[in-house]
Amino acid sequence: DEKKPDKWVFSTCGYCGVGCGLYIGVKDGKAVYTKGNPKHFVNQGTLCPKGLSEHQMINSPHRIQTPLIKRNGELQSVTWDEAFTKVSNEFKRIQKEHGNKAVSVIGTGQFLTEEFYTLGKFVQLGLRTNNYDGNTTLCMASAVMGYKQSLGSDGPTSSYEDFEHADTIFLVGANIADNHPILTLHVNKNPKKKVIVIDPRASKTSQMADVYVPVRPRTDLALYNGLAYIVLEQGWEDEGYIKANTNGLKELKKHLQDYPPQEVANITGIDVKTLYELAREFVSNEKVITGWTMGINQSFMGTDTVSAIINLHLLTGHIGREGTGPFSITGQCNAMGTRETGFTSSLPGYRNYGDEKALKEYAQIVNVPQDIIPRERGYKYAEIIDAIDRGEIKALWITATNPLVSFVNQDKLRKTLAKLDLLVVQDAFLGDTAQIADVVFAAATWGEKEGVYTNSERRCNKANKAVEPIGEAKSDFDIIIEFSKYFEGVNEMLFPNWSEPRDAFEEWKKVSKGQLCDYSGMSYELIEELGGIQWPCNEEHPKGTKRLYSSDTPFRTADKKANLVCAEWYPMAEPVSPEFPVILNTGRTVEQWHTRTKTRDIAILDNLAPEAWVDISPIDAQKLKVKSGDRMSLSSPRGRVDDVIVRVTSSVREGTVFVPFHFNEQLVNTLTNESFCPKSGEPNFKQTAIQLHSV
Ligand code: SF4
Repeated sequence: DEKKPDKWVFSTCGYCGVGCGLYIGVKDGKAVYTKGNPKHFVNQGTLCPKGLSEHQMINSPHRIQTPLIKRNGELQSVTWDEAFTKVSNEFKRIQKEHGNKAVSVIGTGQFLTEEFYTLGKFVQLGLRTNNYDGNTTLCMASAVMGYKQSLGSDGPTSSYEDFEHADTIFLVGANIADNHPILTLHVNKNPKKKVIVIDPRASKTSQMADVYVPVRPRTDLALYNGLAYIVLEQGWEDEGYIKANTNGLKELKKHLQDYPPQEVANITGIDVKTLYELAREFVSNEKVITGWTMGINQSFMGTDTVSAIINLHLLTGHIGREGTGPFSITGQCNAMGTRETGFTSSLPGYRNYGDEKALKEYAQIVNVPQDIIPRERGYKYAEIIDAIDRGEIKALWITATNPLVSFVNQDKLRKTLAKLDLLVVQDAFLGDTAQIADVVFAAATWGEKEGVYTNSERRCNKANKAVEPIGEAKSDFDIIIEFSKYFEGVNEMLFPNWSEPRDAFEEWKKVSKGQLCDYSGMSYELIEELGGIQWPCNEEHPKGTKRLYSSDTPFRTADKKANLVCAEWYPMAEPVSPEFPVILNTGRTVEQWHTRTKTRDIAILDNLAPEAWVDISPIDAQKLKVKSGDRMSLSSPRGRVDDVIVRVTSSVREGTVFVPFHFNEQLVNTLTNESFCPKSGEPNFKQTAIQLHSV
């Protein structure tokens, strides 16, 4: 076989947060195959279509092969020194004229942990700006803040294995069949399970369900409050667990008086009898787990909805045991690593901003002056965009993310980015955002660099370098280290003698030691040997920890008790109107990855999902006189999207449509609105009032 690889390199998939183990086949210095690792617990040899074709992404024609600077309106190849000199000079000028915070950075859950830690340290302690956030604020920030307010710290509670042991599996706002396909392996391995899918849309995942609950859009928080009401009304709560492990029952009981079953039925569209049956599912079985993703997180009530789910698990004691837990399933391959290493929503190791003891401890471990560590979080993603609009932020450095497809209200965003003095994009692919940059740093991609990713179940996996970076591209780690040398004294102070990702990993192990996300017992070698390790991993747990908040890991609040949170439901921020009578829901499909920078040039994926479509109910299709295969337009107060192919399906309810967000040709985020969760900053991508136009 002329394509038979010369070698197979152990690695981990770089797309989604499931974290499948795989091998990259290399022949003559090129990646030619990807195959699943049969010994890896997560995927047991299987891969989804994206994982199976992942090697093809490396040689995409849209790869950026050299650094670029825009001259006369065109991006032109330059040397690394020219690119670093231009950007460092501009950052210094802007910071001198407008203050340190006039430079801002948006990071990514696509980075390896070593890269994200290095970037955060450089931005916050080197450039001294805390206007730094990640694209993770678009996908799981609400889970972070919900865990924090309920349990005292971020950190998903459970393991994939718990889906195999549960009696009842609730999947709420989670279309895992499309977005976390290999996770279905663990659900399906469970012979006795009952799967309950709660979702306004009958997605592919609902086809796995024993019970499908078609809740009305954005009424999930009221539903969970209603279930908690019934549990307490019926005396079904686990009194012993609540007394020993929680605070706030009295206040919660009072708060829930506003959520009696009939009221909740009116809000959610779920009848009272079904509400009682759902509540009973929580208490009549020994092991209940809830998995959720973007349907919950991407909400203007995202944080409180997460807490409402956690409330139910605390009231019923379904946490910290095998087969249980409120489990946030993350989107990107290393959303977890970015959460832990921090400098965005927290300081590294889940240390809170404003905690002087934690700050002092961090300063001592990494040997930097305390006064350069930020006392408070800077602007979140959307606040950075607003600050650019106001003229307060003058330079933006975006790494491995493509806001010109993924952020809300695209027309406004494009106009806002044009106000910058300097836009720097660091990416492996020439996506929409890179095309409007003033300077582009050419980054290596998956398979061309080394480090670790941490998946949804806190499992740290090793991703290895199989081939050299394309052209003159450098790993993100190398880019940050090299760039830091253009700022006097910074490299010496922050990265003394760092030459490879292992240097960052070794520091991270020291920084995380004793924290909930403890990596101190890990090594690259052990991670490969064990097929990934779930943190905390330390002397006490040398092979990692399957689940949090069992008897030996108390909650991370001051008194070690979880908080029962009074979460309030609100009607939608942008309700439908006679002019915009339809609710637009957006999401993903299994064949494409986010803004398609990585997948659009992979023929098998592109042939399966070449363009956006609009799912519309048979009743609405009849009203508009459209049928499957027709083309239609969608508009909102912010813009219009044309030429979207129609798919008539009863998977969406009357008055709602679904469109995937991946496609820049039919840019559905032109329509979405600027409504954000006040606690997490996460956009409410899922409900936009629109009008449909048959063509
Ligand atoms: Fe990669 Fe996720 Fe597919 Fe696994 S399920 S192969 S991690 S994209």
